[in-house]
Amino acid sequence: MRDGEKGAGRRCQVADPNDPTPCEGEVAAVTVVTGDGREVTGCVHHSARQLASLQGSRLHPMAALMPWAVDVYCRAAALTPFPWEIGL
Ligand SMILES: [Zn+2]
Repeated sequence: MRDGEKGAGRRCQVADPNDPTPCEGEVAAVTVVTGDGREVTGCVHHSARQLASLQGSRLHPMAALMPWAVDVYCRAAALTPFPWEIGL
C-alpha cells in the first residue's frame, strides 16, 4: 500500500487508517488524549489532524515540555475535521 514512500512504511499510532499522508518529523513527538481518555503518541502532522477531528481530544499535558506542542495546536486550528476525507 505504501510502496513509493521513503522511510520504511510505518506510520505513527495517531495516524488514521483512512488518512493516506505520511508522518512528518519525530514519530513520537506528542501524545494525544482522545475524548474517551485513550492516549496515543504520534508525529506532529497526524496529531494535529486528529486534534482537529476527534471530539474532545487534546494534547497530553506533558506535550507542553516538547517543542512541537504549539506547532500541533496551530496546525490543528487551521484544519477542517477529517481533512483526509476531502483530499487534504
Ligand atoms: Zn504520523
